[in-house]
Amino acid sequence: MSIEVKNISKRFGNFVALDNISLEIPTGELVALLGPSGCGKTTLLRIIAGMESADTGQVLFHGEEATHVHTRERQVGFVFQHYALFRHMSVFENVAFGLRVKPRAERPSEGEIRERVMKLLKLVQLDWLAERYPSQLSGGQRQRIALARALAVEPKVLLLDEPFGALDTQVRKELRRWLRHLHDEMHIASVFVTHDQEEALEVADRVVVMNKGHIEQLGTPDEVYSAPATPFVYRFLGNVNVFHSRVHGQWAEVDRAAHVAKDDALAFVRPHDIEIQRESSAGALSASVLHVQAIGPLVRVEVEHQGEIFEVELTRERHNQLALTAGETVWLRPRNLRVFQGEQMVS
Ligand code: ATP
Repeated sequence: MSIEVKNISKRFGNFVALDNISLEIPTGELVALLGPSGCGKTTLLRIIAGMESADTGQVLFHGEEATHVHTRERQVGFVFQHYALFRHMSVFENVAFGLRVKPRAERPSEGEIRERVMKLLKLVQLDWLAERYPSQLSGGQRQRIALARALAVEPKVLLLDEPFGALDTQVRKELRRWLRHLHDEMHIASVFVTHDQEEALEVADRVVVMNKGHIEQLGTPDEVYSAPATPFVYRFLGNVNVFHSRVHGQWAEVDRAAHVAKDDALAFVRPHDIEIQRESSAGALSASVLHVQAIGPLVRVEVEHQGEIFEVELTRERHNQLALTAGETVWLRPRNLRVFQGEQMVS
């Protein structure tokens, strides 16, 4: 079932939590709402779920107005960060719960419930824990059970609010793969909230980057990372270096370090898009090496140019060729830069 959010606005008192948000999510797509704390992600998710009402705008499910349809009737499955399982119920009963509370006419038989619950527990690979209680599970296992419980009622839409927020990195990674797999298996529309850029880029088909109640950019993970539409997206999705820039029509050149004046054209460059050279060449900026640090497969080099510090990422191979040490002078050649004047992209 597709989800359409049309011109949704929401205020809390004088505070604008959502400002005219529009967004379409077709069936089969997994979308991440990504942004800093307080940007309105949870509010938008709750409005889609019907748990919060919008001041203006509409939510449509499968092309039909759902704004006034009760949460229970929306065929929506939820998973929250601290979505406590029922402590007094076994894993099996937790997953069966949504089926047991259905109106009598729609309630599956006991045999069907058993079959469906066991199938879901197999899907999350925890069928061997069916008789345990939540207190006897690890955090990651609980979240997988919470997912199975959300899926038991065969939702057409799955909404997840920081579902893996409280877990350690390794478990998070595993659960992300899970989510992707489950989502694909169920062929539903899913929306998940996260403030973790890596999580959004790794799992989602499309990422909605939000800031202060509006959408900064909506695109594939590659688009939002490699072609940020605004300075905010650049900064929020990874590290970025900012240079002063000269613009000549369609063509821009990095000029010098940005001691920012308001109307300056600023060139944004990712750390891996700066090449370091030992020899001077036309257009290269001279810099001195401050610090060299190997991080996993990359080597991070901090350099100083005109009193500003820039970050460069090199492959280990390239670094072995250069063999940089602190204090020496090098030349920087930025590439793949995008230039903004204020919020406006100029090149
Ligand atoms: P986080 O990542 O911290 O959960 P978020 O992006 O999900 O943040 P929301 O929970 O949607 O943010 O909140 C958006 C803004 O609206 C916040 O500034 C919050 O304080 C405010 N807000 C949310 N709910 C209410 C409420 N019921 N009453 C007043 N203000 C609220």
